[in-house]
Amino acid sequence: MNSLSQHACNHLTELLKGFGLAADTLLSNWVDGALVAGEGEEITLINPATGEALASYRDAGAGLIERATQAAQRGQREWMALTASERGRRMNAAIRGLEGHEEALAQLESVVAGKPIRDCRAEVGKVREMFEYYAGWCDKQHGEVIPVPTSHLNYVRHVPYGVVGQITPWNAPMFTCAWQLAPAIAAGNGVVLKPSELTPFTSVVIAKQLENGGLSKGLINIVNGLGKTTGAALTDHPTISKLVFVGSPQSGRMIAEAGARRLVPSVLELGGKSANIVFADAKLDEAVAGAQAAIFAAAGQSCVAGSRLLIERSVFEQVTRRLARAAEQIAVGLPSDEATRMGPLQNRRQFEQVTRMIEAAEAAGARVLTGGKRPEGLSDEAQGYFIAPTVLVDVTPDMEIAQQEVFGPVLVAMAFDGEGQAIQLANDTRFGLAGAVWSQDVARAHRVAGQLRAGTVWINSYKAISVMSPFGGFGDSGFGRSSGLDGLREYTVPQSVWVETAPEASVAFGYGSGVG
Ligand code: NAD
Repeated sequence: MNSLSQHACNHLTELLKGFGLAADTLLSNWVDGALVAGEGEEITLINPATGEALASYRDAGAGLIERATQAAQRGQREWMALTASERGRRMNAAIRGLEGHEEALAQLESVVAGKPIRDCRAEVGKVREMFEYYAGWCDKQHGEVIPVPTSHLNYVRHVPYGVVGQITPWNAPMFTCAWQLAPAIAAGNGVVLKPSELTPFTSVVIAKQLENGGLSKGLINIVNGLGKTTGAALTDHPTISKLVFVGSPQSGRMIAEAGARRLVPSVLELGGKSANIVFADAKLDEAVAGAQAAIFAAAGQSCVAGSRLLIERSVFEQVTRRLARAAEQIAVGLPSDEATRMGPLQNRRQFEQVTRMIEAAEAAGARVLTGGKRPEGLSDEAQGYFIAPTVLVDVTPDMEIAQQEVFGPVLVAMAFDGEGQAIQLANDTRFGLAGAVWSQDVARAHRVAGQLRAGTVWINSYKAISVMSPFGGFGDSGFGRSSGLDGLREYTVPQSVWVETAPEASVAFGYGSGVG
């Protein structure tokens, strides 16, 4: 083991100890208000920066899912026995359970996920934002009164599902965890959440600290393990009455199918192949900086990555040249280094997938303008999953690299002639998560934005995302919405209540006063 790996292992052990997770066996789950070890096969975590073993823990397995769902049922009942205002107060208090632990949490994420430490600190801030925002919704979920054409008072309440199951990926573990936990409990549900097997710890710490801060015992449970074992046990569990999944379209299909077998609804937040459209009249300095951030932040491991850059032909050469130069100046390095802007890919499978897709693109005729291989200047110890920021040109829309999500720091640039072709190319994919338009012509920017089949569209911007505004996809990017009021409503069911108000009313036999 090289000295960098040894240092990372020691650092991880210290961080886990600080949160009470380290013992003889790693206590890698938070179930019914306690840290517990898994019961299944051993899972080894690899350090993304070095490619060497970092830690191992045990798959939770079906037994822990059973305990977690029972705890969530009890926790939910206790939670719903509180007034709505009290739930809001407790959520706000709970977030204070993270105070003083922010840096350790960011470090934990950085070591395991391989993300630059500065990005992880920002992610901790997002956790706070999400809980604060949804805490405010707790006592504002009033229903409606419907002016029905009978003597009834008819009102609608938004009632929780009960216990919901959530499954998250490895690219932004803390963000996705808080993103789904906060609305779920604000709506009154208990939760069992399974993070990616590759990034198990920060979700456990968040749940533990929140409960220490004041949430009901058992309301939130985190179970760690593989998708095919622990994940499948969760999706198949009869107590789970809604599934919320963030991950790849391939797994999303399996989750939705598992839900459909039990007639349980799902929300799917899946991948993307987002188009970033630059018109010749755009402020090109800003468009180039925006395009760079859109694809290379998080080493491209972002669902909304602007992975297809569509550039008006008259400025294509200029934009791609400037972008390649900018890509070469990104500080790629160790996640722990304060100067690092882009770290490694998170895991070997992803690294191999990205490498294979670049090679296949070249074989199909694409040309690497910059990158495409291990970045230069890394230390010898940094033997992990690094790929330099990559820009590909001579790409045609039918190539795999132009159609499929790469989920790595790989940008494909294609030229277009006129607005019509820009829209046609942008929509020429099965995905529909996000997109952007860069132009100083306000009318055109709105016109084009309105024709993009994407759940989120930016004009002269990219990646502006807030927990206040709905987020989700079309097509292979999934269905349902997260964030904002729409995200909250995914966690409730409308219940219609009819109260007879007439002094001497009788219930009509047949269709007299209502529906069949
Ligand atoms: P993945 O689909 O491989 O895994 C996601 C989660 O699903 C993991 O926790 C995994 O263990 C679990 N899982 C896999 N098979 C399962 C099964 N049969 N039953 C139950 N659970 C199962 O995705 P990933 O590689 O972890 O993440 C990358 C993908 O996530 C990319 O496609 C990315 O675009 C997407 N993503 C989407 C969003 C969004 O908001 N739209 C956000 C982040 C990531």
